[in-house]
Amino acid sequence: MKNLMTTRPVSNGRTPCTREVNALSRSGISVGPVPYRSSLRVGVDSMWYNPSDPEDLKKLNRRDAGATEEVGMMLEPLGVGYGRRTGILAVVFSRTRRPCWVSNMARKTVLIVLCVFVLYSAAMIPSAAADVGTGPDAFSERTEERKEMVRSQFRGIGRTTITDKAVLDSMLRVPRHSFVPAKYRAFAYRDSPMPIGYGQTISQPYIVALMTQALELKPGMKVLEIGTGSGYQAAVLAEITDRVYTIEIIKGLYVSASERLSHLGYSSVHTKLGDGYHGWKEHAPFDRIIVTAAALHVPPPLFEQLKPGGKMVIPVGGQFETQRLLLVKRDDEGRRTSETLTLVRFVPLLRDAPGD
Ligand code: SAH
Repeated sequence: MKNLMTTRPVSNGRTPCTREVNALSRSGISVGPVPYRSSLRVGVDSMWYNPSDPEDLKKLNRRDAGATEEVGMMLEPLGVGYGRRTGILAVVFSRTRRPCWVSNMARKTVLIVLCVFVLYSAAMIPSAAADVGTGPDAFSERTEERKEMVRSQFRGIGRTTITDKAVLDSMLRVPRHSFVPAKYRAFAYRDSPMPIGYGQTISQPYIVALMTQALELKPGMKVLEIGTGSGYQAAVLAEITDRVYTIEIIKGLYVSASERLSHLGYSSVHTKLGDGYHGWKEHAPFDRIIVTAAALHVPPPLFEQLKPGGKMVIPVGGQFETQRLLLVKRDDEGRRTSETLTLVRFVPLLRDAPGD
């Protein structure tokens, strides 16, 4: 048998298949560097070949017809073969198994992913355990945090105290954590807005309460919301009246909020995809309208769709300025009055869905 010992070391940064490589070395064949999966090289007769390279393969096959098939399949080297025609040793590869270093790497990757996941989960404690519900069970979760939210956030310097019992009861009941993305769920009851994707936000609990209180919503009233977002405000409204209509302009949010509301049992909430600037003519007039994105002016179609004696709460102002949260009323003669409730910062009322 011809000696195929090469002078090159088994210089493989990733040390693949130690056992096989040793066996190969003992038999006079070295395995070359393995910079990527399909480039395991084989040294035959001091020449280096990449069995997955058709050109190299041809050369290798010419040198050792006996090993043609196996070499052609190129995967984990199983040992050495003997080419009868040429009398040269060559590496025999498995047809199905990957090179060892790939599986080593896969194992390492899985380990790293697991570690990251464990660390991430640990970071999400304290509330991660009680934090899984987006179905009806969610109502019994994190009730203490909701009590604390209502107790501590709905009054204070510069804030209008929230006293409307219907609003307080609603916000105690609606599982806000079901409306924020999983990665922020631990922080769902913080005194702040939170991202919900697509550059949009779920409003701060206090602002939701303030706007709902200003509506003076009563059971049986028909209310239209512009800007469904996560669906949280719609759920807060739905705890008070069963005639809630809500419009969202971003399809992804419309779909997820609709599903979320229905999973939570808010089946009476009517959702629609579209530009809320025009209101929802088919269901007009409305007793109440709430706009949860900042408009440059009060959209005339919305005012038109307000019943005489109806009320609208809407933030008005540019995207980069402080906006005024207005309470707009329509009297029995159709005249409009408005008052500023407070200064706010809302995401803008869009006129086109992003990407349109
Ligand atoms: N009320 C939501 C938060 C509102 S964020 C909640 O409780 O989570 C403002 C929302 O208004 C965003 O989802 C945004 O996509 C939507 N929006 C912006 N312009 C709109 C328009 N013209 N018509 C309908 N929805 C609009």
